[in-house]
Amino acid sequence: MSEPWLARAAAVESWARDLRRRIHANPELSGQEWETAALVAQTLAGLGLSTRTGVGGHGVVCDIVGGSPGPMVALRADMDALPIQEATGLSYASQRPGVMHACGHDGHTAMLLGTASVLAAARDRLRGTVRLIFQPAEETVAGAAAMCADGAMNGVSAIFALHGWPGVDVGTIATKPGPVMASTDTFEIVIQGRGSHGAYPHLSRDPIAIGALVVIAAQQIVARQIDPLEPAVITFGTFHAGTATNIIPSSATLTGTMRALSASVREALPRALEETTRGVCASQGATCTCTIHTGVDPVVNDPTWTVVAVEATRAGLGAEYTAELHAPSMGAEDFGVYLRHAPGAFLRLGIGDNAVGHDCRYDFNDAALVHGMACMAVVAEKALDAADLR
Ligand SMILES: [Zn+2]
Ligand SMILES: [Zn+2]
Repeated sequence: MSEPWLARAAAVESWARDLRRRIHANPELSGQEWETAALVAQTLAGLGLSTRTGVGGHGVVCDIVGGSPGPMVALRADMDALPIQEATGLSYASQRPGVMHACGHDGHTAMLLGTASVLAAARDRLRGTVRLIFQPAEETVAGAAAMCADGAMNGVSAIFALHGWPGVDVGTIATKPGPVMASTDTFEIVIQGRGSHGAYPHLSRDPIAIGALVVIAAQQIVARQIDPLEPAVITFGTFHAGTATNIIPSSATLTGTMRALSASVREALPRALEETTRGVCASQGATCTCTIHTGVDPVVNDPTWTVVAVEATRAGLGAEYTAELHAPSMGAEDFGVYLRHAPGAFLRLGIGDNAVGHDCRYDFNDAALVHGMACMAVVAEKALDAADLR
């Protein structure tokens, strides 16, 4: 007989909601999650669970050891907020100017604490160990790597995470096998031209005009060099040059992000960008440097573990709370880093009508907490059973 996870989650719903709002009101930027981590550790201690703190920075790891021996599966939540001035007008809005939980990590953290509570109460029926990973610095895509380097994935057979998703019905879990989130790598291009008076362009090598050509030429990479069946994005996010209307500056700096869903496209983009930029600059008599900052892998769900997660969700929440995901997102997530250490699946949790993530009006929907907590609990239980059979 399946444990009634939904009922167990409902019993801790208001407790988890209070935690969520407390975390929402006290957001901390990536790498600065002192208070959030302390609250997590203290809450877990209150549940009679022991924790390892300071993992990969401010990360917290907690093992819930089941009633019988077996494998270990991990559940992950992220704890950091964003440099955004909140504009929700909520009673529990951020008390820190310019910092806000606009990606729902307050919800993820509270949900995993709720899951800890229901799993700890039912630990006797777990065949193995459930590891809870509360990670810092997801928004800077640095936290997962730091936690893995600090041993967070040692001994883990499979890992799962939930991310709140606007536009999906409240409480519905949506996922698919294969790629679900994109890789991200960033670039910085510095074009070195020659300055001049604005009235004498022929004496210059105008880095603004050349930079504009680079921006346009880079779009040709996606349009003409990448297989149209393979998604790719090159976006310029900043373009800085110049000081006055009548001066042609000597240099320009452009930065941006590249996204892909496959390793081959991810590898091709920086090479093509550098070649294109060099070619354009050379044709205009300028030089350039092109620096690539490697980000994170795409999140690619393991087919077998995705089925385990979907079937567990169906059993625990009801078929009406599962939905097939049709297309991945070109957004990025550092969850893919964990998948280098063990297979797993990244699940979307519907939070209904909501502002898009990273918007100043975003608020994680508390109505989704129960389903999120129950989903993580039942996925952990069923994953332990599945890992045991492998
Ligand atoms: Zn985010
Ligand atoms: Zn996020």
